[in-house]
Amino acid sequence: MPDQPNPRRPKRGTYSPKPETLELLRVSGNPINGLGEKTPRRPSPFFWHPPDQHPYGDLQVVARQSSRACPDSGPAFMAAYSYPELIPVAEEQNPASAEQLSAEATDFALSHEADAVGIAAMDPLYVFEGYTVEEPWVIVLGLAHNYERLKEVPSDETNGVGVVDIGDQYAKGTRSSYALANWIRSQGYTADPYPGPSASALVLIPPAIAAGLGELGKHGSLINSKFGSGVRLAGVTTNMPLVATGPSRFGADEFCATCQVCTRACPPGAISEEKQMVRGVERWYVNFDKCIPYFAETASCGICIAECPWTRPDVRPKLLTTMARRMAV
Ligand code: SF4
Ligand code: SF4
Repeated sequence: MPDQPNPRRPKRGTYSPKPETLELLRVSGNPINGLGEKTPRRPSPFFWHPPDQHPYGDLQVVARQSSRACPDSGPAFMAAYSYPELIPVAEEQNPASAEQLSAEATDFALSHEADAVGIAAMDPLYVFEGYTVEEPWVIVLGLAHNYERLKEVPSDETNGVGVVDIGDQYAKGTRSSYALANWIRSQGYTADPYPGPSASALVLIPPAIAAGLGELGKHGSLINSKFGSGVRLAGVTTNMPLVATGPSRFGADEFCATCQVCTRACPPGAISEEKQMVRGVERWYVNFDKCIPYFAETASCGICIAECPWTRPDVRPKLLTTMARRMAV
């Protein structure tokens, strides 16, 4: 039986932001993101950074309030923000090879709630302006959504299933990244965890792509070959000797070129049909000014990642086969 239409999603073209939300969007986020810039540069601190680092602190408050108004979301996000202690770095270093340490770190993460793991060499472009990361490696962790719960988005006071799943994945990312950082520290190497949803030094999607965890989708999020767009990220930076794992291409970028599922499903019409130049890279881009009022009013939205055909467990295997065939030609 086909799914019933989700009553919490407005029909395309019928949404307009509340005036009080629009008032808080005091400056456009697109220039801050580097839209139209032809030279690569580090990203500027943005939404979910501490509010003194960008102009959207009041919008973050609206987004948090709309999330917390949904049933059961409070404990889920409290778990995401419960940071365990980091242990001191052990004096003696594990002398194993980079290959062996990479395998051990990956196994450790997979047995501590991560659903996917990739390793990328650090690039200064992965670090937000104003922050410093000394470590030469980043381990990226993927935390997979439960599709049956994710497809309930957007959440509101009557139904919090979707946003609770978002909070649960971030909480897994917090526990998993801290556990991995502490394991690496116990092996005598430095390690720092970077879970979401709050942002700090590390941008996560570019190293995730470099590490082979997926491709960038038209909706601006990662598409993973095993979990589609239903995946959250966390990172761990370290000086442990490691071996890079990616990138990996399975045809998501090519598929996005002709797919319009997310552009049609996005209530404010924020997803661009064409790639755009952003900080020196031509790539898919979401118009921040259109997305963020809806995102803030609807408990972090999530419609585009839930609707993406790659996210649907019944569709993803067929897409992988089709795109593997097309990529081989
Ligand atoms: S998260 Fe933003 S881009 Fe995605 S559907 Fe919602 S409003 Fe559109
Ligand atoms: S819905 Fe379609 S266009 Fe959008 S990200 Fe997914 S595959 Fe790409």
